Amino acid sequence: MMNWKSHPSYDGHEDVVFVGDEGLGFAGIVAIHSTVLGPSGGGVRVWTYPREEDALTDALRLSRGMTYKNAMAELPMGGGKTVIYKMGPDRGACFEKFGEQVQAIGGRYVAAEDVGATVSDMRAIARKTSYVSGIPKEGGQAGGDPSPWTSLGVFLSIKTLLGGAVQGRTIAVQGTGAVGLGLCKLLADEGAKLLVADVNATNLDRAKALGAEVVAVDRIHAAKADLFAPCALGAGLNTTTIPGLGAPIICGAANNQLATEEDGARLQARGIVYAPDYVVNAGGIISVSAEYIGETEAAVDARVRAIAPRLMKVLETAKAEGLTPHQAADRIVRERLAAAQRA
Ligand code: NAD
Repeated sequence: MMNWKSHPSYDGHEDVVFVGDEGLGFAGIVAIHSTVLGPSGGGVRVWTYPREEDALTDALRLSRGMTYKNAMAELPMGGGKTVIYKMGPDRGACFEKFGEQVQAIGGRYVAAEDVGATVSDMRAIARKTSYVSGIPKEGGQAGGDPSPWTSLGVFLSIKTLLGGAVQGRTIAVQGTGAVGLGLCKLLADEGAKLLVADVNATNLDRAKALGAEVVAVDRIHAAKADLFAPCALGAGLNTTTIPGLGAPIICGAANNQLATEEDGARLQARGIVYAPDYVVNAGGIISVSAEYIGETEAAVDARVRAIAPRLMKVLETAKAEGLTPHQAADRIVRERLAAAQRA
């Protein structure tokens, strides 16, 4: 079994639980970074990795990111994440088994959707545990697929960064999956010009149907645009892509966009404004958290609308203190966590 406490991405994580079932042919990792602010909340990612070690790296990094995201969004939740790196042929049975294993974690982790997981997967988990969110509810209660809320939070942030309107502005969207496509729709509805790239032809076609122009997957970051929105996977802002970025502002949904801490400084040195990923992509977890604690959709809407003003405060703090936006966001979160720990 992998030793997570000596892993380079270990950051004082409270626990790492290896889940799975040999007979069903599935395997995964639940990483619990922090429960200081509440039960650790974070999605279930279903993905394949070259090595098991890489799945652990992702689980550790993503769960830490959830602590920061949830604290920044002022949610009563800590940070956790599941990575399922091997899925068996009977998906429903795998998720039910996983539900039993989430139940055994005893409420320190609450599951929801992430890349590769769906509402029906959450329903399977819910047959075995109540420590799950992301399931549609009725009567104006918060619930269901969190990605439309993520799209809305990113869209409103983009609009604010562009001075209050997107009409006639060019936005390059990398990844037109659940969040990216939702974002494209909101942008197209308000008259933005869209440049898009995706490795999945079906998802790309959905964006094309909105009038978007297709750019090659390896050139989307360099497309001349008013703003670049990374909505695919992480680490897209790195030493290879940063010198060629074609937009002066970056604001998108993907988690862990900066490959390394230094890449934030590299963006700053190029005069590129970077909206920290976890500040702007909190819409989904806001919905998940509201569903878990029984809030209404109206409460989710209000919390999602607070994202753009919060982003502007982070950017102001960064400017005033000579930090990168990402450093400023991290500092705000660390203060919040320290205050909660003292309390
Ligand atoms: P998704 O799987 O529905 O969409 C991702 C899309 O990116 C897919 O269409 C995929 O084909 C595409 N893609 C993968 N590699 C690519 C590449 N190299 N170039 C271009 N496209 C590529 O996932 P999603 O739910 O839309 O999430 C997108 C990102 O936003 C992820 O990083 C996720 O962690 C993050 N995020 C999602 C939510 C949410 O509510 N779903 C919330 C916060 C953050």
